[in-house]
Amino acid sequence: MRLLTFEVPDDFSYREGDHMEVFPENDPVIVDRLLVALDFVADAVFTVKEIGTGVNPKSLAALLLNRGQITLRELLLYYADLSGPLQRTSLQILTSFLPNEDNFNTLREVLNNAGAAPELGSSDEFAKKNRNFGDLLANYPLLAQALTLQKLLMILRATQPRRYSLASSPLVDPHIAKLCVGVEDLRVSDHQGLCSGFLTRAKVGHVVWARSRASQDSFHLPTDPQTPVIMVAAGTGIRLLVLVLEHRRAQGIKVKEHGGDAPFRLFYGTSYHDMTSLRALVNAYVEDGTVLVEAAYSEVDYPRRFAQQILTRDALKIWSDISNNGHIYVCGSAARVGEGVRQSLMHIAEQVGGITDPAGWLAGLKKEGRYSEDVFG
Ligand SMILES: Cc1cc2nc3c(=O)[nH]c(=O)nc-3n(C[C@H](O)[C@H](O)[C@H](O)COP(=O)(O)OP(=O)(O)OC[C@H]3O[C@@H](n4cnc5c(N)ncnc54)[C@H](O)[C@@H]3O)c2cc1C
Repeated sequence: MRLLTFEVPDDFSYREGDHMEVFPENDPVIVDRLLVALDFVADAVFTVKEIGTGVNPKSLAALLLNRGQITLRELLLYYADLSGPLQRTSLQILTSFLPNEDNFNTLREVLNNAGAAPELGSSDEFAKKNRNFGDLLANYPLLAQALTLQKLLMILRATQPRRYSLASSPLVDPHIAKLCVGVEDLRVSDHQGLCSGFLTRAKVGHVVWARSRASQDSFHLPTDPQTPVIMVAAGTGIRLLVLVLEHRRAQGIKVKEHGGDAPFRLFYGTSYHDMTSLRALVNAYVEDGTVLVEAAYSEVDYPRRFAQQILTRDALKIWSDISNNGHIYVCGSAARVGEGVRQSLMHIAEQVGGITDPAGWLAGLKKEGRYSEDVFG
């Protein structure tokens, strides 16, 4: 996980809990390799003025229609999805583009067979070796001879922007935006995500194309500082934790133990790679009294402990906070925290609060805006 800080212009306004949409760039090393393989002059410009009726509306050709002049390098760097898995339809179109010449026969056969199973994660040998367009071209250089710019624009898909939850509070500085981005560890994974890989590579000073997006059910914090807050954050859910900590410090809100009157219990955890820097970050907020950390858990703790189990351990405190109009915020992966936390809260409501319909009780809490989830994946 990386915590990235961006300087944003005046017209990038956001509220706490909003999202940032990032337009990823392909790896320039791969782009340069493809420019050579395709025999493209990097700075040559083109314009898409017209497309035929049969062209896929999701293709690059359709996206770039009437967009003005674009260089071939810009095409491969910003617009073409070079990293996503090969689509069956793209392979079929590619096969139809091969010239009817004998030296293309083997390639035609390979692509014909591959078109049957190019799915992501497929055990198929072809799909494993040819994860994306760049791999395909590197493995079958003859293909470049069959590809003109027009054909490429019909085969390739357009890069899609990725959403990230803003991990900063505009109260601290409206010209600063932060993101917590989960990245693939290349020691254990052989494929880096497009946008997370781009953000990891981006050096200080790099201009990133992005825009703020209002989140539909904004992650609003209670306005009354005396309202108890319980927060459960795990994995990249830590992003909201950073936001809430910043926001409350900027508001000058302190927990009871530090002379304030705002109960704020935090349950958080992440994998061991990120633990040291994350602990240091959270500790700074514990020391100045912004938050009370009830439990930190980690994937290296033995036996492994998860947020939901620790919630149940602290059931009496949790129930007391909820009974005092407390708000609960859960953020992280749906599979890892979402369902587990819901189950724990329902157990607490049943066993400590004597609630007979815990599912209905939780639904009621959600309706009142006192139970917010920001989980994905
Ligand atoms: C509302 C919302 C908020 C979000 N907030 C955050 C946040 O705060 N922090 C955060 O980290 N994420 C967040 N996400 C997820 C984020 O938008 C991206 O989905 C995430 O960063 C992965 O995008 P990527 O481009 O890096 O990976 P992608 O390129 O989209 O790939 C996704 C996965 O598929 C694998 N993959 C892709 N192509 C191939 C291929 N050809 N072969 C094999 N494997 C492949 C990649 O290794 C990766 O594991 C949020 C999503 C939503 C909807």
